[in-house]
Amino acid sequence: PKDKAQDEKISRFLSGVNHTLMFMSGKGGVGKSTTAVNVALLLSEKGHKVGLLDIDIHGPSVAGLLGLKGMPINIVNEKIQPFQVNDNLRVVTFQGFLDNPDQPIIWRGPVKMGVILQLLADVDWGELDFLIIDSPPGTGDEPLTVAQRVPECRAVVITTPQEIALADVRKSLNFCKQTNLKILGIIENMSGFVCPSCGVRHDIFKTGGGEKTAEQWGIAFLGKIPIDPGVVEAGDLGSGIIKTDGPAKSCLEEIVRRIQE
Ligand code: ADP
Repeated sequence: PKDKAQDEKISRFLSGVNHTLMFMSGKGGVGKSTTAVNVALLLSEKGHKVGLLDIDIHGPSVAGLLGLKGMPINIVNEKIQPFQVNDNLRVVTFQGFLDNPDQPIIWRGPVKMGVILQLLADVDWGELDFLIIDSPPGTGDEPLTVAQRVPECRAVVITTPQEIALADVRKSLNFCKQTNLKILGIIENMSGFVCPSCGVRHDIFKTGGGEKTAEQWGIAFLGKIPIDPGVVEAGDLGSGIIKTDGPAKSCLEEIVRRIQE
């Protein structure tokens, strides 16, 4: 009965949300948070109402990627009010609950799941075209809680092209299968590098592995993003890829076009 009441609450709070997308990856460091944040930013700049929920309790990076130092959680009438980043983008990150961002969270699974359920059931998002959820890498409690409890959620899976990353992506894809989480598609990040000095392309982490995996699994391929130093700079400055002029920007725009379809 407790679950049922909570599920009803989650449904109620998410009833104004049109599309819920959970960004997942097999491994850390493949650019999942960077992609999630920049897709959210770009969708919001295109006029969509977007919510961004960071459920990476151990390594929240959404606030930093948006250039927000503090992100205090504002609770009104027992509801968490998202932080308004621009006219169309609202954010909730667990980081807002912490006094010191360098302090690690040391919790066991059930406590974590309780917190995530609360982030799903108590945020006053209002009407949203897209709710983007940035999950931690892998197939642990956090994505499992979302997969089991958020109706109509779909996964966006980020990978780099080399086999060692793809091996873990297959775990993520099987996770989606086993939990009946629909997959919107795969994004291949860090896909090749064109040297800005000499123009020669180097496939540092190889290329095409994400696309091939999508084909093999019968899943949509949403696009590739190359290695682009502007992405790192934008991440550290918290300014967004849209403000850069390297090759990643147009690739991101293409991906967002496909997500909008
Ligand atoms: P994850 O969420 O998968 O752990 P992050 O989004 O935190 O990964 O990215 C890890 C690092 O890689 C960050 O420093 C980020 O700026 C960098 N990065 C991500 N995508 C790219 C890219 N396409 N080109 C260059 N650097 C990238």
